[in-house]
Amino acid sequence: MLNAALVKKLAATCGFDLCGITTPEMIDPAAEKLREWLKLGYHGDMSWIVRNLARRVDPATLLDGVNSVIMLGVNYFQPHLEETPPHHGRISRYAWGRDYHKVVRKRTEHLLFQLKEQLGKTSQPEFKWWVDYGPFLERAYAARAGLGYIGKNTMLINRQFGSWLFLSEIVTTLALEPDDNSAVNHGRCGKCRQCIDACPTGAITEDGFVDSRRCLSYLTIERPPAISPEMAGKFGDLVFGCDICQQVCPHNGRAALTQHKEFSRAMGVGEFLDIRKVLNLATREEFLKLTAGTSLVRPGLADLQRNARIVLCNQKSED
Ligand code: SF4
Ligand code: SF4
Repeated sequence: MLNAALVKKLAATCGFDLCGITTPEMIDPAAEKLREWLKLGYHGDMSWIVRNLARRVDPATLLDGVNSVIMLGVNYFQPHLEETPPHHGRISRYAWGRDYHKVVRKRTEHLLFQLKEQLGKTSQPEFKWWVDYGPFLERAYAARAGLGYIGKNTMLINRQFGSWLFLSEIVTTLALEPDDNSAVNHGRCGKCRQCIDACPTGAITEDGFVDSRRCLSYLTIERPPAISPEMAGKFGDLVFGCDICQQVCPHNGRAALTQHKEFSRAMGVGEFLDIRKVLNLATREEFLKLTAGTSLVRPGLADLQRNARIVLCNQKSED
């Protein structure tokens, strides 16, 4: 009999550090917050979020007869080892190793296979699943499934792993007993405002929004059409992504190290990029030779080189 306890056991054997189950009802405060965020224009050029808003806030529109949401988390935390070497740019932690979309997708598919095997041929519930890119308020549902709470930096924060988590979700018509999130104390932000004060661009607002147009994660990865000189000056040595508002969070000071070797430096581009090497890439083939299988493929060659030029300027290199 496939029940919540067995789903969690199987999730652990498939390589997930966290698994929680919740119901598919709408989470009104999260939906309201998303609407407000869009109204304020904080989504920048991510117009697809506006287009799929109705689906994004209501899992019932994603799967007829949905009964349960299974939220899954994988810890990717590794500490920084060194200062940025000369002529190098820093990469956000999540992108040091293999592309997490691929790694977590494989694990989610493996879990689905196991679930279906347990169910056998007599029961045929429907499943849909996503890793990060689905029209789904994954942090809100993860919080309701007991995986953590949402901090002022808008990240999901877990007592054991901090906010260094990749999330994926499975929605299903299978009825599973939901977790009671009030039974898990992940702490709270309280009066802390370290992320707000540390953000180099002031992207985190007092009322708990991140303005993507000012967020370096967005500006270095999501291919915005233009970057103002003001924002370029804030890149510092960040060539891909930004961890600052996570780095300063006291909940992350005691985060457990990842056990998943796919995310280690040795499995991808590592912690730094040689800026001159990036600027010398002449073809897409050369770009893919450096980035294939990692998250750095996402911005494409032209935007990665734009980031590299900005970092080089910021380092005031004579090169
Ligand atoms: Fe600010 Fe960086 Fe956090 Fe974006 S990722 S909100 S730029 S600290
Ligand atoms: Fe909350 Fe402080 Fe962490 Fe920001 S740095 S998310 S305010 S605990």
